[in-house]
Amino acid sequence: MTFKTLDDLGDIAGKRVLVRVDLNVPVSDGKVTDATRIERVAPTILELSKKGAKVILLAHFGRPKGAPVADMSLKLIAPAVSQVLDTDVATAEDCIGEAAASAIAAMKDGDILLLENTRFHKGEEKNDPDFVKALAENGDIYVNDAFSAAHRAHASTEGLAHHLPAYAGRTMQAELEALEQGLGQPKRPVVAIVGGAKVSTKIDLLMNLVKKVDALVIGGGMANTFLAARGTDVGKSLCEHDLAATAKQIMVEAAGAGCAIVLPMDGVIAREFKAGAENETVDIESIPADAMVLDVGPKSIAAINDWISKAETLVWNGPLGAFEISPFDKATVAVAKHAAEETKAGKLVSVAGGGDTVSALNHAGVADDFTYISTAGGAFLEWMEGKELPGVSVLHGK
Ligand code: AMP
Repeated sequence: MTFKTLDDLGDIAGKRVLVRVDLNVPVSDGKVTDATRIERVAPTILELSKKGAKVILLAHFGRPKGAPVADMSLKLIAPAVSQVLDTDVATAEDCIGEAAASAIAAMKDGDILLLENTRFHKGEEKNDPDFVKALAENGDIYVNDAFSAAHRAHASTEGLAHHLPAYAGRTMQAELEALEQGLGQPKRPVVAIVGGAKVSTKIDLLMNLVKKVDALVIGGGMANTFLAARGTDVGKSLCEHDLAATAKQIMVEAAGAGCAIVLPMDGVIAREFKAGAENETVDIESIPADAMVLDVGPKSIAAINDWISKAETLVWNGPLGAFEISPFDKATVAVAKHAAEETKAGKLVSVAGGGDTVSALNHAGVADDFTYISTAGGAFLEWMEGKELPGVSVLHGK
């Protein structure tokens, strides 16, 4: 790890610290419906404030496309931030220029100020040098605590780090340390589970994983594409038949890299995609022509859990079945519970994330027992794809 953290800051009393946070929270009827992202950045904000810094928050909200949009104002989010932090949070009319400067001039040491949506300026997403300079004028130090925006080379996520001394916030630090344990320098054997609906959205991810892990478990709808590619009749299951060649290529790459591909050997089938649909478990080679596989079966669960028992590290993206509709959540829940047990027993490092994975693991009730669950979505997936994240590279001095 070569990036600097808040531990490296020294005396910051009275210093203006620009902190990039992720406040892109869901809002309904003007109310924040899920404050998880705010809760995640709270430790960094409060730590800086306690040390006497002037804490100046930078964030985007929605997709205003470079111009002010009233219902994408961060002023709407400020009360929720204030509530989570349990302290006052001031706001400003803009994130640069006179409006920002005068709001900052009014700050006392330890105060917290939320600047207006960075994406109200075109320069944010373009990483425009003049806009970066205008942002940098407001700070002495830059802290990035928004891993979830680190896959974008924007002014507030990347550009600023070239102008000000740059540090990772506590959430960014935790995320990077967990990811390093997951795929950077993992303890072997490493098992990856990739599930979810489609292969087409995860080709890069699968290609990267087969080079890095010892076993790749493929579940969910995307397993059908692999099964069909090797000649298994998957009936009416969700399946991207046009990706047969891609699936085969992934299997060839895996063989070349010594990565075992673990496909379902049995499945839970139904005729309708709905909760409580009549269902039965069949051998994977006996899927009736009019049925679809909505979950992996007990033999597959046992095989996956066996791999997890042997593994030192688990990386997980995507559910093993249609977990939103009972009883097709069974495999996802059973495997998640087993991974949680192994983690609690100190036998496994478990890192999971991306889209539906977080809700699937919440549904299994194990979210707190994994080593790390990333809520970062796109950034987490790009990391799993082996891509360089500009907001992270720049913290490493690249
Ligand atoms: P993703 O966003 O790619 O991770 O996909 C998650 C979605 O895949 C969830 O909504 C699941 O219901 C769906 N899914 C998982 N397994 C299956 C399956 N066997 N058939 C249809 N959909 C599935």
